[in-house]
Formats: sequence, structure tokens, C-alpha cells
Amino acid sequence: MTELIIIGGGLAGSEAAWQAAERGLAVRLYEMRPQMTTGAHETSDLAELVCSNSFGSNLPDRASGVLKNELRRLGSLLLDCAESSALPAGAALAVDRVGFARRVTERIESHPRIRIIREEVAEIPDGPVIVASGPLTSDRLSQSIAALNGEGHLFFFDAIAPIVDARTINMDVAFRASRYSAGQQEEGDYINCPFDRMQYEAFVSALETAERIELRSFEEAIHSGVKAGTFFEGCLPVEVIAQRGSESLAYGPMRPVGLRGRDGKRPHAVVQLRQDNLAGDLYNLVGFQTNLKFSEQTRVFRMIPGLEHAEFVRYGQMHRNTFIASPTVLLSSLQHKTRDNLFFAGQITGVEGYMGNVATGLLAGWNAARLLTGLSPLTLPPTTMLGALCHYVTHADLRDFQPMKANFGILPPLLSAEKLNKRDRARANAGRALRDLETFLNEIENR
Ligand SMILES: Cc1cc2nc3c(=O)[nH]c(=O)nc-3n(C[C@H](O)[C@H](O)[C@H](O)COP(=O)(O)OP(=O)(O)OC[C@H]3O[C@@H](n4cnc5c(N)ncnc54)[C@H](O)[C@@H]3O)c2cc1C
Repeated sequence: MTELIIIGGGLAGSEAAWQAAERGLAVRLYEMRPQMTTGAHETSDLAELVCSNSFGSNLPDRASGVLKNELRRLGSLLLDCAESSALPAGAALAVDRVGFARRVTERIESHPRIRIIREEVAEIPDGPVIVASGPLTSDRLSQSIAALNGEGHLFFFDAIAPIVDARTINMDVAFRASRYSAGQQEEGDYINCPFDRMQYEAFVSALETAERIELRSFEEAIHSGVKAGTFFEGCLPVEVIAQRGSESLAYGPMRPVGLRGRDGKRPHAVVQLRQDNLAGDLYNLVGFQTNLKFSEQTRVFRMIPGLEHAEFVRYGQMHRNTFIASPTVLLSSLQHKTRDNLFFAGQITGVEGYMGNVATGLLAGWNAARLLTGLSPLTLPPTTMLGALCHYVTHADLRDFQPMKANFGILPPLLSAEKLNKRDRARANAGRALRDLETFLNEIENR
């Protein structure tokens, strides 16, 4: 039988390799580490966790707990290894990261049908392939993916907005209001920093000329022709918007519509701040993702009326996050729309979170095995958490397409759930997900 090629031995690729091999396929798993580094991974182990050691909640009525229950039912290797490497962490599943990655590596290495090849794959090969190369996909492979999908269908960066200490906002200048809630301004959810025209013009000009952080190694990819999709259109850094035209911000993240200042007039522009933590002492600057140097953020953002003395508890930053425009190019079975033996899995599909990435790896490996044994690839019910994640990333509106992790908001509404409180709704969603998965598995077994 034809060998299945899997690119990337991270969370998704390792799970995919195991699932396909367990279903009888011969698998060639390519992992570029340790020859080539991603800049975030530190070892040559498969399934290395690059940051947190937590896989999220284990509670059965939390979104992440529902996903784990589905993965248990579907026989996930990585969840099994995580549970064998668990550390005390209350209701969460946290792991000894070294022990976890070693366990996964040993299980994959000792599988008789999996061959691990420590090489970078620079181009998407012919034949059955799963691309699971993650948010730090190598530049050459990124270019090959961009060539397949068309420029503008591969995103490179995510940007985050700064957060300020609420106690340092000057509320003599800033005011509370939600849009269109004039008259009850004290009740508004947002803190609004109003600009008159002169303040706005000075601010925009400072933004345009402020120093930015060099994007270093990523620039190579950008300069070599995959420029169009570099940023999410919906998540552009403010300094990039500012350069598009002097009023671009006033019609974008700084639009004042629906707001009246203390003088009862609409300001020329507004920066809105939204509560960022439960305690209400941190506020983020809405839509103000940025790549300015930290010292420049302090200088320029203190020009915002009301933030003259603001303390920044987190600066805006950009980080690399390569992912494809799944709503345009992928089916819910994780197959490519123009090539049915090409699958994508993991963070590169726009699914976020360790468990979600393991889960898409599981489905891609399962579906690749089905395809190569003459069966149709599966689309899971959208009422299951995994089905909902795959549905979301392949059906979202591309203009607002953001990486998405497991949450109840992506499940279809429950019938007659109006009377349920939040916790009961979560339980009902969790129960429905597992029931529907069971029914689905019975159906495909009997087909
Ligand atoms: C800095 C950083 C911090 C993060 N922190 C968290 C966190 O705390 N919690 C969380 O849930 N998520 C976090 N993420 C997202 C995280 O990366 C994913 O949740 C998860 O690792 C993605 O799994 P994956 O299998 O898609 O990618 P990865 O686990 O990154 O695996 C992809 C693998 O492909 C390999 N590879 C890349 N290109 C090639 C190539 N051309 N040929 C061969 N091999 C290749 C890489 O070396 C890597 O081993 C973080 C991401 C980054 C970049």
C-alpha cells in the first residue's frame, strides 16, 4: 500500500501518524528537528510543548474537558501519554513536559509501521500527505503552501494589543460608555479616550514614524514572494493601518460612532479600552495590536488622552503563527478542496490549543487511513467539540477568521435551552456531544 507522508512531528503530526499506522497504513513521519530549529522548540523530541505545560480543564462540563472525553473515546495516543505524565494541577490536565514528549517519542518510534525521518520537507510532496507543520512551519514549506493555495491564503503573524493598569488611566479625561449608550455613560462597559482633531493628527503622525521591532528571520519569507497574506486583514497592527491614510484609524479601530464625550459632542476619534481580567484592574486597548518597540509604545500610547501616565502591564507584540485560509481551502474532513489526498492538521488549520491540535491530528490520520483503504473520509457531527472546531475553521467568514480553540460558542444551539443557566447549558452541551459521537460511531460501524 502507498505510504502516507506526514510533515511535522508535533502534537497533530504525532497523533495523526499513530492513528493512521494503527489502522494499517505505512507512515513516513518527517520532523525537521534537530537539524533545523523552529526558534521555539528546544529538544528533538516529538510532541514537544513549546510553552505552557497545561492541556486545559479536565472537567467534563468544560469545553476542553468535552474535547478530552471525545479524544478518550476515539483512542488518542497523545491524551493517553498526557495522562500518564500528569502532574497535580487541580481540575486541569498539566503534564511533566519532558516525560510527556519522551513517552510520545518512544511510542511513535517503536511503532512497526512508522518511519521517522529527520529532515525538512521543503515542498508538499505528491501522494497522500498530511501537513501538520504547525505555527512555525519552515519558510520553504510555507512558500510551497502559499503557491498551492494562492497568495493571500496564508497568514504569518498574529498581533496582540497592550494592556494597561486601570488605576493609571486618567478618568477626568477618559469616560465610561458603550457605543450608542449615551445618557447612561456611567454604566458603559468601555473606557473611552477621546481625541480632538489636532490630538488625533499628532498621534497618527507619531505612530507612523515610531520605531518598530524588526521581524528578523520572518522577513526572508516575506521578501521571497509570500507577501500578500503576511498579516490578518482583521488584525492589522495600528501602525500599518495608520500608514494607509491619515483618517484610516478614525474609520477603523478609533471610530467614534455611537459615542458622545462629556461635552455631549462626538469626539473626532476614540481609543476604547476593554476590561481584561475578572478583577477589573486591567484593560486592553481594543484593536490596538502593534509591533512597535516597547519604549515607543510607552511614548506614543501616552499621547492618548487619558493615558498620559498609563502603566503598561503587557506591551503589544507580534508572534509568528502560520496558518492557512481554511474557510477557502479545506473541507470539514480536513481534506484540501482541490486535492483529496492532501490533509492539513494542527495549528496550521487555524485550530488553537494543544488538545484541539491533537484532535485535528487524530481526525486527519483517521481520514487518511479511510481514504487509502477505499472508504470516504468522515465529517464529525458539528454537535461534537471536534466536529464543531473543524466546522468552524472551514466555514468561518474569512474576513474575521481568527484561530479558534474549543469553546461552547461554536456548538449549534441546544433545543429549548432558554431556561437553563450557564452551567446546566454546559452540561447539556457536553452530554449531547458524547451522545452524538456515540451514535455517529455506531452508524459508521454498521454502514
Ligand atoms: C511560542 C509559542 C507558544 C505557544 N504556547 C502555547 C500554549 O501555551 N498553549 C497552547 O495550547 N498552544 C500554544 N502555542 C500554540 C502551539 O504551537 C500549538 O498549540 C501546538 O504546538 C500546535 O501543534 P502542531 O502539531 O500544529 O504544531 P507543533 O507542535 O509546532 O508541531 C509542528 C512540527 O512540525 C515541524 N516542522 C515545521 N516545518 C517543518 C518542515 N518543513 N518539515 C518537517 N518538519 C517541520 C516542527 O519542527 C514541529 O515539530 C504556542 C505557539 C508558539 C509558537
